[in-house]
Amino acid sequence: MKRMAEPFKIKMVEPIRLIPREEREKALVEAGYNLFSLKSDDVYIDLLTDSGTGAMSDTQWSGIMLGDEAYAGSRNFFHLQEAVEDVIGYPYIIPTHQGRGAEQVLFPIVVKQGQYVLSNWHFDTTRAHVDLTGGKAVDLVTEKAYDTTTPYDFKGNFDLEKLENAIAEKGAENIAMIIITITNNSAGGQPVSMENIRSVSEIAKKHGILTVMDAARFAENAYFIKKREAGYENKSIKEIVREMFSYTDVFTMSAKKDGIVNIGGLLGFREDEKLFEQARSMVVPYEGFPTYGGMSGRDMEALAIGLREGINEDYLAYRIDQVEYLGKRLMEGGIPIQYPTGGHAVFVDAKKLLPHIPGDQFPAQVLANELYLEAGVRGVEIGSLLLGRDPETGEQLESPLELLRLTIPRRVYTYNHMDFIADGLIAIRERAHTLKGLTFTYEPKVLRHFTARLKPVE
Ligand SMILES: *Cc1c(COP(=O)(O)O)cnc(C)c1O
Repeated sequence: MKRMAEPFKIKMVEPIRLIPREEREKALVEAGYNLFSLKSDDVYIDLLTDSGTGAMSDTQWSGIMLGDEAYAGSRNFFHLQEAVEDVIGYPYIIPTHQGRGAEQVLFPIVVKQGQYVLSNWHFDTTRAHVDLTGGKAVDLVTEKAYDTTTPYDFKGNFDLEKLENAIAEKGAENIAMIIITITNNSAGGQPVSMENIRSVSEIAKKHGILTVMDAARFAENAYFIKKREAGYENKSIKEIVREMFSYTDVFTMSAKKDGIVNIGGLLGFREDEKLFEQARSMVVPYEGFPTYGGMSGRDMEALAIGLREGINEDYLAYRIDQVEYLGKRLMEGGIPIQYPTGGHAVFVDAKKLLPHIPGDQFPAQVLANELYLEAGVRGVEIGSLLLGRDPETGEQLESPLELLRLTIPRRVYTYNHMDFIADGLIAIRERAHTLKGLTFTYEPKVLRHFTARLKPVE
């Protein structure tokens, strides 16, 4: 199968080791059949997340040495401000420790008790911060996102009719903001089209509603627009990025994704208005003085460089190709996946692969564990285990999709690693029908998927 060659050479290596099968079995039992509880040394290829797990370039590392750790007015802050203005087009920024730090600063200013927040799909921490401020998060993604097998170019899109209806039903004055999540992480790293972003913005303007870009994977989204949307094929990634952001008022960003740094976040504003001033006061008690917020000077420098590297087209072509390559290998091997593959991950449809395991026995977790035993690869369950119980009845909710997410860190693994992962999953397919479901031995009340302990059902 055709694959690209990486647009970088390797200057430094970090050894990884596949521990023997018996040791993996022991480690899994000790972890209570929950891969979050493994030691990373017991993992060979770690696909838990693409967040903060990317490899920085030599230029970024040289930037680390130029950190100006002044409490106020660090030169790295101004470099970061210039980079954001150049790449995104917003002149006003507040650095935060990560994406959720930006949410924590912005949301209490914007969301009043009882108001609604509308989004194509709220990321977990975004939803949590809406809840914490007394708001209600409503997801309005296109129905096409739930159909894993039928291809569609922009499965991250808003359903515009649902959006119009939600505004009509709840009243524009009861809507605190509209959040456009690019790419749509929860739908499988699926992109949102420019046309959809523009339409959402027009609807918001018509009703006087604030629009916020949740911009973690802004560069990957822009690359998909260039490749898939008519009229954008000859535009540069930067032009596309700037157009996307021209339709919103504010952005929150986890810099740990397309910013290609290990920690950091941003809150950005197009205009120097009341909102920016309020956020600049709020960031002081929550994160830090406005010219460093939650970041050190050296980290701001690495991010200023990472934002520009993140929109490099050769890099993006390789990035998206590598994820797509893994997806194609899996499909060829008869593994059902969310298709087309998204920007940062391949989502395996565990419901289709393990139809004999009901949702309340967590088929995607079963598959994740089996892949660890087979190949030392750590993926993550996105299904009923993550979803949890109905807060009122205590019943286990059944997720519409039971997915195993294989999240690819940026510039970290090679195509050989992709082959190794694919071979591991394909080897499991033959014996998939023999795998057993899981049940709790310990189930915490809050965010249980991180710390729960499980065992196979008899
Ligand atoms: C990761 C992420 C966040 C939260 O950012 P952190 O840096 O993890 O705090 C918010 N929204 C989206 C879409 C994300 O992917």
